[in-house]
Amino acid sequence: MAYDPDNIFAKIIRGELPSFKVYEDDHTFSFMDIFPQTRGHTLVIPKTAGEDLFGTEEKDVQAAIRTTRKVAAAIDKVLQPDGIRIAQFNRAPAGQTVYHLHFHILPVFEGVDFRHHNTEQADMDELKELAAKIAAEL
Ligand code: AMP
Repeated sequence: MAYDPDNIFAKIIRGELPSFKVYEDDHTFSFMDIFPQTRGHTLVIPKTAGEDLFGTEEKDVQAAIRTTRKVAAAIDKVLQPDGIRIAQFNRAPAGQTVYHLHFHILPVFEGVDFRHHNTEQADMDELKELAAKIAAEL
């Protein structure tokens, strides 16, 4: 699939759509997922165009993974989950819905089920507060 420069995440990087940013550097951007599967669900994306793991240059994948590790560590401190899952989907049959490479950081709380992927919108005030707390650790 050809990369669409007007996909949601490209617009977020360009500031054309709002997001609850937790971290940004020259190569990557991280923000809260607004349909969180779990409390603290956060996304990390490279700033360069690439629809998935295979359509993105290796150096940009590496930068995104470095940021994923960094942001996940901050989430671990702030939310103190029992575990943290990292997920990344390639193509629709695997669950991908936005075609700009992204890594999901999913805090896991024992006994609490994940919500379905991409369904229930979060409380925006809670997301804002969480983003600020995570950003403060970075
Ligand atoms: P995937 O299904 O792996 O492509 O993941 C796309 C993710 O983006 C889903 O978890 C959605 O909840 C999330 N999402 C969609 N639109 C937005 C948005 N405007 N801001 C933040 N997260 C979003």
